Amino acid sequence: MYSIIDTHCDTAEKMLDNDIGLNNETCMLSLGDMNYFESYIQVFAAWVSKGEKNPKTRAINILTKAKEEFKKNNLKLILNLDELESVKTHGGILALEDARSLEGDINNLQEFYDFGVRCIALAWNDDNDVISGANTKNDTGLTYFGRQVVSEMNRLNMIIDVSHASQKSFWDILEVSDSPVLASHSNCCSQCRHVRNLKDDQIKALIRCGGVMGINIAPFFLEENEHKATIKSVIRHIDHALSLGAENNLCFGSDFDGIDSTPNGFNSAKDYIKLIDAMKKENYPEELIDKITHKNFIKFSKKFT
Ligand SMILES: [Zn+2]
Repeated sequence: MYSIIDTHCDTAEKMLDNDIGLNNETCMLSLGDMNYFESYIQVFAAWVSKGEKNPKTRAINILTKAKEEFKKNNLKLILNLDELESVKTHGGILALEDARSLEGDINNLQEFYDFGVRCIALAWNDDNDVISGANTKNDTGLTYFGRQVVSEMNRLNMIIDVSHASQKSFWDILEVSDSPVLASHSNCCSQCRHVRNLKDDQIKALIRCGGVMGINIAPFFLEENEHKATIKSVIRHIDHALSLGAENNLCFGSDFDGIDSTPNGFNSAKDYIKLIDAMKKENYPEELIDKITHKNFIKFSKKFT
């Protein structure tokens, strides 16, 4: 029996917009998938689009849906990240994807924290008032307000997520943040050239600061010809990060329900078992598999106490 921690999904948004519950198996992540494992902790993100007129309200609505589903299905809402080690259960962590939900007001950080949010990806692919995103045209990095956001997140012990950050934003955040950072759903650029994947020097910097990166299963982050993506592609990205020294810095960050398709042979969260089997076939030691499936994130989260 295995324990899984996954650092990114958009399932809460899908559940809200389609008025369905976590027991609905049309989602890539469902209760049945989670229950397949001994324990399963999922980070549920609330993404808000650039065109959203009321980003804060939209984020709260998405996360309220997540909370309702946690309650209905006996999932633990994880509020103390340092407790994860003893949480041998099924549960969820709340996150924001794109700090535009803060609506430019630093006080909203405390409000989201009080609501239960413990992790924030500062941008999506476009620029906002906090950082430049991965698809930026004019990479100006962390803004003045962004620096305040990073410091306040450090003070509140919230996890800063650098997935979707531009190059300059990534390096600015690492310089300003007192805490190690998470790349919740990003792969290796050397294995699939994509603006959302991390370059080797970024992966090495994450390792140096004690951060973690969640391997994403989006086919277009795995293979430049996305139709060729398989479980083997996921292994290739993991192998590459390991070759850079990321044994203690890798975890899973699927992007379930934020993507339209999955690699061949990997249809839902239950198929993590197939990925684990593939790692065994590659002679990954059991201890390393445990680190990637959950122990690395647990160790990382202890820094947020
Ligand atoms: Zn994303």
